[in-house]
Amino acid sequence: MYDILVVGAGTAGLSAGIYGVRQNKSVLVLEANIYGGQIINTPDIENYPGIAHTSGFDFAMGLYQQAVGLGVEYRQARVTSIEDAGDHKVAVLEDGERIASRTIILATGAKNRPLGLEHEEEWVGKGISYCATCDGMFYRKKVVAVNGGGNTALEDAEFLSNIVKKVYVIHRRDQFRGEAARVEKLRARENVEFVLNSNITALLGQDRLEAIEVTDKVSGEKRMIELDGLFVAIGQMPENMIFSNVVGLDQGGYIIAGEDCRTNVEGIFAAGDTRTKTVRQLATAASDGAVAALAAVSYIQDKEMSA
Ligand SMILES: Cc1cc2nc3c(=O)[nH]c(=O)nc-3n(C[C@H](O)[C@H](O)[C@H](O)COP(=O)(O)OP(=O)(O)OC[C@H]3O[C@@H](n4cnc5c(N)ncnc54)[C@H](O)[C@@H]3O)c2cc1C
Repeated sequence: MYDILVVGAGTAGLSAGIYGVRQNKSVLVLEANIYGGQIINTPDIENYPGIAHTSGFDFAMGLYQQAVGLGVEYRQARVTSIEDAGDHKVAVLEDGERIASRTIILATGAKNRPLGLEHEEEWVGKGISYCATCDGMFYRKKVVAVNGGGNTALEDAEFLSNIVKKVYVIHRRDQFRGEAARVEKLRARENVEFVLNSNITALLGQDRLEAIEVTDKVSGEKRMIELDGLFVAIGQMPENMIFSNVVGLDQGGYIIAGEDCRTNVEGIFAAGDTRTKTVRQLATAASDGAVAALAAVSYIQDKEMSA
């Protein structure tokens, strides 16, 4: 029986591990792929407080080594379901193994919805980004496009229009899902051009993104736009359905939990990108990891006192 079982070894999960072991608790972190999470392939991180510049790989490696060095137990294993057995919780692995723990922290992150085009994965960090807050500054005074029609896409376009030469906003419909006021604000900007009713149908370049092919859905006409960067903002996909029989999810599939990281089930916490929140970044994931681990510790202590 572990004190804290963490599902996911991204920034939130490993931070939770660090805070858990430093409270003298036994912590097991289970990771389906490789430790590090979403950030692992990013070449440049420049907004993590205290680290002026690092790569996603170095960042993830540092976090992993720190966690394991402090005594966090790490295993590569995919959790396929969790169970609430009242005084303890159970994580069930792909091969059927069951691991019991007093508390569980779900830190399973989220994936950016991809366009599904050739070269997309290969050119992440080479002209393709899913995060304007993270990578916008690398495109200062350059030409970029934002793809999407929700508030995230509109916010990204607004933010980018302050620092880049030109922003194309490419959306598959003629109306935006995002707030009308944001759309109007963007329309008023001289360096923003809307390309509506249009899909990106090809990513073009040699070793990096140099242009995109955009197809008008109404006329079928194709247009090539030369640019330095493309920000894909067509949504995120948390993978939490496997937990939906135990914890509450919102419509987008995020685990419902506030800044205290508590879910609707006592002893089960959610940390990082996987929970309902507005800012999904490394700093907020690390912060959630700390909050969730300390909440788990205090839950354990309360249980011990009342036993
Ligand atoms: C390309 C890119 C660049 C970015 N750049 C920056 C940046 O410069 N600065 C910044 O602040 N933020 C950046 N971000 C955002 C940042 O990476 C995320 O906010 C952060 O990684 C969230 O951490 P997390 O631990 O919540 O989730 P994740 O990093 O997504 O980690 C979740 C982990 O859980 C694992 N997992 C999922 N389901 C299971 C399961 N069932 N069983 C076991 N394991 C499971 C996953 O494999 C994954 O390793 C970037 C994101 C991307 C995609």
